[in-house]
Amino acid sequence: MLAQRTTLFASSGTSNARLAAKRAAAEGREIIDFSAGELWSKPPQIIRSAAIAAIEGGVSRYTDTLGLETLRQAVAKRVARQTGLFWEAGEIAVTAGAKQALFNATMTILDPGDEVIVPRPYWSTFPAQVAIAGATPVYLDTADDGYLPSLEKLTAATSGKTRAIILNSPNNPTGRVYDEAFLAQVAAFALERDIWIIFDECYHEFVYAPATHANILTVAPDARPRTLVVNSFSKALALTGWRIGYLAGPREVVSAVKALQSHTTSNPNVIAQYAILAYLEQNDDSFVREARAELALKRARSLQMISQLDGVPLPTAEGGFYLYLDVGDLCGRSAGGRELGSADDVARLLLDDAGVATVPGNAFGDLRGLRLSYGLPLAQLEQGLTRIAETLRELA
Ligand code: PLP
Repeated sequence: MLAQRTTLFASSGTSNARLAAKRAAAEGREIIDFSAGELWSKPPQIIRSAAIAAIEGGVSRYTDTLGLETLRQAVAKRVARQTGLFWEAGEIAVTAGAKQALFNATMTILDPGDEVIVPRPYWSTFPAQVAIAGATPVYLDTADDGYLPSLEKLTAATSGKTRAIILNSPNNPTGRVYDEAFLAQVAAFALERDIWIIFDECYHEFVYAPATHANILTVAPDARPRTLVVNSFSKALALTGWRIGYLAGPREVVSAVKALQSHTTSNPNVIAQYAILAYLEQNDDSFVREARAELALKRARSLQMISQLDGVPLPTAEGGFYLYLDVGDLCGRSAGGRELGSADDVARLLLDDAGVATVPGNAFGDLRGLRLSYGLPLAQLEQGLTRIAETLRELA
């Protein structure tokens, strides 16, 4: 018999989509996989070399629970650059990916019965972690407002029990980037009501002109005592499997996070810590600049090809590496006698008939969306989008 708690979470929709793609590939089908939330390339050379050097040098023991002091200092410097504020190592927790940073955040600031505002579509881990902490996610629908949480809906979603709001910019899955004016408004709203802000900026390196990334603390430094900044090296440095992210926030929270992490994972992987430290110390961001330039090209090519699809509006795609297609207008149409009822059906059709794996909006609490990651090689990207166009053209 399992704990009641297990009813609060299911394996994430994105993992399910990835599994379906793998299963189809294992059956011998040639699948083009748009479902992965990661880049296709290798991590930067310096990171790979530093990891090998750490192993050969005999690095293998536990470190401080929240990471090497030197790494926390290097991360503090990085957060200082991003927020324009001064940070110390004691305000930084290095974690096993941003996912653990977020888990630590919800477990240390939420009590059972609290409510947390989660803009929807959402990255599915947000509501799951809120629920695991015993709190209740309260959804704020953004689809009718260009995927921006409107202040009117934010006010309506707020109650005496509201303890936090989760903001993710650039947004997964919508690709929306929250601008400075919007962030200033939300920060003022949260401060007035003494609400925590969890600010997840894992995709901040990938934003495309004319959009620009803003950290909420650059526009609202007074929100600092109530803000937890969460970030990751996973996406920008193409090392999702290495598991290094961080949380930056008030000392009191970081101390509680340290105690919690000391009873869960202890320190994040030590080899990965040394490798990221070497990367941060060399002050060379050419890897990220090149990755961004390459993604910008793929994004432009994708948008050009998507603009030719009938019944699918052009997605926002201001940041990250996702195209979030609104396929709601395809629902009600049919393929080979199969009626499409939701984005889930569209995703299944694309996998079955086009050999293309996508993530349906169900994974993000939304029945109209379909997420395509364009982090894959250009030739595959073009081939996949061509196959999607061919399949959609056949819809009755
Ligand atoms: N936050 C968002 C919005 C994400 O999309 C992801 C990964 O998909 C994460 C956090 C977790 O990243 P990490 O690999 O650092 O745990």
